[in-house]
Amino acid sequence: MEMKYCQSCVIPLTPDMAGPSDKYCKHCTKPDGSLQSREHVKAGITQFFLMVEPGISQEIADKRAEFYMKAMPAWAER
Ligand SMILES: [Zn+2]
Repeated sequence: MEMKYCQSCVIPLTPDMAGPSDKYCKHCTKPDGSLQSREHVKAGITQFFLMVEPGISQEIADKRAEFYMKAMPAWAER
């Protein structure tokens, strides 16, 4: 079976991460299946960088999240 990835944050869409949409994970979608706001998703990705690289500043994590999201199908056009 081909693994699908969230088009917003690239998390693998395993059964426990899958949300109401088949394109996005549960963190990136609202209960009705629509995409969360850009700010919401960016905050989550920023937290992820702060977690995997202890010691980097909020500012750096924020910039990385910004850069990371430019490669996401869900955000590249915005
Ligand atoms: Zn996601």
